This record gives sequence, structure tokens and C-alpha cells, in this order.
Amino acid sequence: MSTQMEAGNMHSQTPKRCLLLALGLITVPLLIWFWSKEVSQLLSHVTYISRSRPRPDLLLVYPQPKVLQPTRTDVLTLTPWMAPIVWEGTFNSELLESIYKPLNLTIGVTMFAIGKYTRFVSRFLDTAEKHFMIGYQVNYYLFTDNPQDIPAVRMGSGRTLNIIFKKKYKHWQEITMWRMEVINKHIAEVAHREVDYLFCLDIDLVFYNSWGPETLGEMVATLHPDYYKTSRGSFPYERRRSSMAYISREEGDFYYIGAAFGGQVKNVYEFTLSCHMAILADKAKGLMAVWHEESHLNRYFLSHKPSKLLSPEYLWYDARAKPPELRLIRGAHVAKNYKAKSKQMIEMESAKITEESTVHLMKAQRWADWWRKSVQKMKRLYAWIRHTYTCPIHTFEAIFLTQKEKTWPGIPRTTLAGLSNQIICRETASVTTSKTTLGHVAAVEERDAVYVQMIEMEFAKITEESTVHLMKVQHWADRWRKSVQKMKRLYA
Ligand code: UDP
Ligand code: MN
Repeated sequence: MSTQMEAGNMHSQTPKRCLLLALGLITVPLLIWFWSKEVSQLLSHVTYISRSRPRPDLLLVYPQPKVLQPTRTDVLTLTPWMAPIVWEGTFNSELLESIYKPLNLTIGVTMFAIGKYTRFVSRFLDTAEKHFMIGYQVNYYLFTDNPQDIPAVRMGSGRTLNIIFKKKYKHWQEITMWRMEVINKHIAEVAHREVDYLFCLDIDLVFYNSWGPETLGEMVATLHPDYYKTSRGSFPYERRRSSMAYISREEGDFYYIGAAFGGQVKNVYEFTLSCHMAILADKAKGLMAVWHEESHLNRYFLSHKPSKLLSPEYLWYDARAKPPELRLIRGAHVAKNYKAKSKQMIEMESAKITEESTVHLMKAQRWADWWRKSVQKMKRLYAWIRHTYTCPIHTFEAIFLTQKEKTWPGIPRTTLAGLSNQIICRETASVTTSKTTLGHVAAVEERDAVYVQMIEMEFAKITEESTVHLMKVQHWADRWRKSVQKMKRLYA
């Protein structure tokens, strides 16, 4: 009886099984097809270098590294967070070449030559063409207000000079600070598609010896040649608490120079965006950090440790004797004629703006205009950030996905948290995904929307404060106008 029933059951299950089998036969190939499409799409963004395949191009015979024989004992070669400090003698150029050359990298360089600084261009480029990243593809991006003044320089093969017109700013402090904004926008619009690594260099530099792949890293900072022996309490950091660049006397690793930094293009994007926003936030409060963008750079690198440091061998001085710890000068600042006016003096001058004479009255007016404009600019920039972070997926992808990476940038803490006690957004780790789906994009977008909202609140506050500041400046200007009139009446 029971065997009969089982046999009956089996008979009724057979058509079901057939149906399931047929379904499986249809859906499995469909799934495989979808999956392979997605993977191939993903792979088009990723250069995959197999670690297991033999590398006949890799140099295998070279002097053995000896554990008990450090290559340099006279200088620090590793930071407490395990980032190398690059000194002559610590690396093998030939070995590095054999590792980096097959990667077929393109290195970008941003430079600014505004006003008289066009006179530095030919020395920079002539020497860079002899020593900077020789054997690699190099894209120079030169921003200038005077393209006609840029001399013709012979470029090596695979190396291009892109001259980009930029309107002139009056004050040099503004020029140097404004670089962060220009670089950031240029990465978003152009450079992210064209280069793997990007260096941002002063134009008043010259190269004396090879500056090669040993300088490549996720985020690269350069030790300031004037302060590598100084203790942290005496670094010229910004010391006013109200500034976004504030660093206390108990904090700080090194003092980095603003004239040379770089890294993977997506990191330079995050870095310049953070610095630019911090500069604007300060500006809106009536603050200019003591060493301008360099102060903000130092603040950023305090909480976002650079992955590699270049020693002062990479940025020394043209006209200064070489101390013994510097074994090979690779780059140097050209001796500039400061017209007997130090930067500090210019600083004091701007602080005294509201004093003394009608000339100063005009200056105050100029400052007031500057503030007004910067608030407007901030609003525009803010609209742009908002767009960048919440734009449709295709644009979002254009900015981040084409970086041949699958790592979403984390949200940096300093972006608007430089005010030590007003952390509005703690840093988040970058998110690495093995597959990039619309779901991933949506998640990152949602996170960024929250971020944007927080920035919005902070910016509203800044705008309000800046209005108060603007009124103060206006008040001073009025007072001056009145007292000058009074004086004139008295004289009459
Ligand atoms: N700069 C410029 N025109 C100026 C002032 C500055 O093009 O009038 C650019 C230029 O690229 C320069 C950089 O800003 O190298 C930084 O300025 P500077 O070299 O004067 O600063 P320093 O090295 O003296 O701190
Ligand atoms: Mn300089």
C-alpha cells in the first residue's frame, strides 16, 4: 500500500522536476551573461596587473638589503606612522624603474605663472625636462594670465605642456591660496582623466638631479628646508584658534612646505578641496592664515598623514650651502629678489589697513569688496560641491570610477572640522568594493548627501558671521571718510 503511494508521488513529481530543470537551463546562462557584462564593464575601469604571472621586466639582481645595516643612520627615514622619508641612499633607482616603468603611468604637474612669475617658466621647464620623471609620460598644466609670455620649450617624447589661461589676482597671497581651488577644479574637469599621479609645484623651482618614481605615493608632502631641525612648538603653524588651520603647540609632526606636494590624483582632489574650503571659511571670518595655503596644508596633514615624505633634498635653496645630511640636491627654490620687503612686513601692512590715511580707506574698501566677493564665491563653490556630490550617476562615475580603482574616497575630517572643538564630520574610512553596482553608488551618494547637508549648515553660519565682519569693515571705512572730511573742513 505504502509503496503504491510512493510510486504515485514520484509520478506526479516528474513533470515538476522537468519544469525546474528547464527553468534552470534558461536562467543560469542568463545570469552568467549578465554577470560577465557587469564584470567586463567594471574591468574597463581597472588595470589589473597579475601578481602571479612571471615578470621578466623586473630587475632581480641588485645589492641585497641588509637588516642590520640601515642605509641612512644620520637622518630619520620612517615616520611614526610608517611613511618613508625619501633621502638619497635609501632606495635603488634601477629597481624602482623596473617596477614603475611597466605600469605605463602618466604624471601630471600643475604650475602657476601669474604676473612677473612667467620669468621662471623657462628655467623650470628646461631643468624639469632633464630631471623630472624622465622616461614617463608627463602632462604639465601651466596656469598663466599671460600665455604670450610663455617661452617655447622643447618637450621630450610623451611629454606635453598645456597652457591654461587664468585671470590675474592682485595680491600674491590671493594667488598662492587660490591655487588650491584652481587645482581642485582642474582635477575634476580634466586631470582625473589624463593622469595617475599629480604633483603641484611652485614655478620658482629648478631641478638639479633626478626626481623619479621614488617620489610617487598615495599622498606626498615635502619637508620645509627651513624647519626640519625645528621643534614643533616653534613651527610657524597658524596659532589662532579661530582659524581652520589652527594647530596647538603640543601638536604637529613636521613642517611641510606649500611649494611641492602631490600624490594619486584622487587624493590630491580630496586634499585641495579640503584646503580650499578651509581657506574660504577663514576668509568669511576675516581671517587669513599666517602662511596662507601652507598653514592649511600643514593642518590637513596633521590629521591625514601623508603616505610619503620628501626630504629637503627635493626642495633646497639655489643659493644656500648644502649641509652634510643632504647628499644630493634634486630640486631647489630659485633665489628671489624680495625687493627688501619680507613677507612678514607685507602681512603687517595688511593688518594696519584701517589706519592712518585716505589710501588706507581705499584699501579697507578693497578688503570689504574682497569679502563680499568671497562670500558669493563660496556660495557658488558650494553649489558646485553639491553638484559634484549629488550629480547623476554618469557624472559621478566620470569623477571617481574612471580612476581605475574600486575605492570610494572616505569623507575627510578636516574638511570643515579644522575648528578643533567643532567637529562637524568625523573622518570615515574609504570604502572598497569588489563590484561597483548602482547600489554602491546610491549608498555613497546617500552618505555624501548627509555630508553636504552638514557643510550647508556650517556655511550658513560662516556667511552670517562674515556679514557681521563686512559691516565692521564698512563702519571703519565710513569713520575714515568722515574724519577726513572733518580734517579738510578744519584746514579750510
Ligand atoms: N605666484 C605667481 N605669481 C605671483 C605670486 C605667486 O604665479 O605674483 C605663484 C608661483 O607659482 C609661485 C607660487 O605662486 O611659485 C608661490 O609663490 P612664491 O613662490 O612667491 O612663494 P614662496 O615660495 O616665496 O613662499
Ligand atoms: Mn616659491
